[in-house]
Amino acid sequence: MKNKVNILGLDFDKTTKQDMINTLKHKIQHHKKTFIVTANPEIVMYALKDQEYMNTLQSADHIIADGAGIIMGSKLLKTPLPERVAGFDVLKDLLDVANEEALNVFFLGAGKKVIEQAVQNIKSEYPNLVIGGYHHGFFNEHDPSIGEMVKNSNSDIVFVALGFPKQEKWIAKNFDTFAKGIFMGVGGSFDILAGKVKRAPLLWRKLNLEWLYRLITQPARWKRMLVIPAFVKQIIETKK
Ligand code: UDP
Repeated sequence: MKNKVNILGLDFDKTTKQDMINTLKHKIQHHKKTFIVTANPEIVMYALKDQEYMNTLQSADHIIADGAGIIMGSKLLKTPLPERVAGFDVLKDLLDVANEEALNVFFLGAGKKVIEQAVQNIKSEYPNLVIGGYHHGFFNEHDPSIGEMVKNSNSDIVFVALGFPKQEKWIAKNFDTFAKGIFMGVGGSFDILAGKVKRAPLLWRKLNLEWLYRLITQPARWKRMLVIPAFVKQIIETKK
């Protein structure tokens, strides 16, 4: 069985969240360096306009379907993906794994106060997890000291919250220098971990309406939703 589904040039993993977590656990145990991208329609549409970003995403080991739009797109293409695998859920499950197995985790990104608060919350919620290090996300991208700090932490998992496309570009640029680790861009997740931004309640998420909740609670983001119709149009054109 083919285990990838191509959507507008990106090979998405045909996986449930649980299978993805099991795969990652296995990779961590074997120190297998891994780059994971969680992509939504906005990211796909951005990559179609930025070839360097497209190449970066294509270099990832796993691309997971973070967004109801991607699932819808896979259905339109008659190659349905099993379920939405939200980046934030993968992050939370990996924090649980890290807590169970006393793994070393690095947190890079978000504002200084946000990352400090997020790390404090993580320390109390996941007491066995080892904080390999953390740093806010407003540094000069050409500053090599950040990459060195991450490398020297020898972390099992590195979460990078710089927003897209920055976070994936940063991971790809530094990937070869790291000896091991699971590297994943996590967008605004640290803002949620710090308690600054609330996630949609479970029922909304189950109904695939997280996007609507975000739209209502963070109306400034509404413009970002405008890419969805363009994404669907592009899928339909590809089908023809
Ligand atoms: N951010 C950062 N450095 C930057 C730009 C953004 O650390 O140079 C952080 C920002 O503070 C926020 C996250 O990256 O915590 C972006 O969140 P958003 O929800 O906008 O992510 P996206 O959906 O764009 O991936």
